[in-house]
Amino acid sequence: MTDAMLPPGSTIGILGGGQLGRMLALAAARYGLKTHIYAPDPDSPAFEVAARHTVASYADEGALVGFAASVDVVTYEFENVPADTAHILESHVPLRPGARALAVAQDRLEEKTFVSGLGIATAPFRAVSNETDLRAALAALGRPAVLKTRRFGYDGKGQAIIRTGDDPATALGGIGHVPAILEGFVPFSREVSVVATRGLDGTVAAYDLCENEHRDHILHITRVPGTLPAELCDEARAIAGRIATALDYVGTLCVEMFVVEAEGEPPRLLVNEIAPRVHNSGHWTIEGAKTSQFEQHIRAVCGWPLGSVALVGPVEMTNLIGDDMAAWPELLAEEGAHLHLYGKATARPGRKMGHVTRVKT
Ligand code: AMP
Repeated sequence: MTDAMLPPGSTIGILGGGQLGRMLALAAARYGLKTHIYAPDPDSPAFEVAARHTVASYADEGALVGFAASVDVVTYEFENVPADTAHILESHVPLRPGARALAVAQDRLEEKTFVSGLGIATAPFRAVSNETDLRAALAALGRPAVLKTRRFGYDGKGQAIIRTGDDPATALGGIGHVPAILEGFVPFSREVSVVATRGLDGTVAAYDLCENEHRDHILHITRVPGTLPAELCDEARAIAGRIATALDYVGTLCVEMFVVEAEGEPPRLLVNEIAPRVHNSGHWTIEGAKTSQFEQHIRAVCGWPLGSVALVGPVEMTNLIGDDMAAWPELLAEEGAHLHLYGKATARPGRKMGHVTRVKT
């Protein structure tokens, strides 16, 4: 054991109490580590599987300081951790991944500027603060184009496609006149992602490329391996590794990408988004890889060596969204189906209630 390695019995603080926090806490428990979850919602699904929890706002400095004093390291399960919260925690205890990853991933303009600055392809983009900028950006990028809020957008929210004949002012009003980014429309054939982990010593372990299918803008199915050529999969994994290294990242991250397959040309990858956390498209790793994305994250934030990311067999993960959860008795009865339910009381439409993973061995 090196000095940088937290011993079993240590406590990991986790900001956020959703299903990702819950699965992180379960992975930590497996290694004899305790978790302390910090979240504002008293009904957080992660609370019931953690040794301790704090219900408080992310702006409550006293509660944050008390939380920091009770843990050995702090991590998080969502990217919108406010910068002030990160700063308060960081001044008391190691925060992994660090504030830089949060700053880059929270702002689509920073994110695309950072990624393209590494020489990695993204959609063409322009910053938009007002209608004049938007008109100039549309003239430069052409239509259709996608207008997105710089901050707090997810699952297609905070976005508007501007097509020929659409009024730019209406699109800007539609996203609430907030600071934005305009992206050229990418005629992608598939959406893919790479989940990767970077250890405290800089080692990177990237899982196989995930091919993702969405329903109503929400991830529906992830398949691994997909059907893309091996060189493209390797390139995608290398891209995730370069991003993790450039951010001096510690923990698991996900890089979402588009694949463009133009007639007569080799397929190309464009990075769309970085999630500085464990990710839904990596849930398959619990049964489908030798070490899960949650275990890898716990290993990394504790300064432990990473595990093998080898695939156990072809795998498919399906989200159970809203009423999909009602199928749980049949899924339990299905041989080889691994059912995960997140302990959420009400199945609202669009709410992620659980997932099921099927591995072919
Ligand atoms: P995002 O919030 O950036 O993950 O975008 C949500 C979804 O909108 C993506 O999964 C894509 O299906 C679509 N999308 C986002 N950006 C673009 C783009 N530049 N061109 C085409 N489709 C996009």
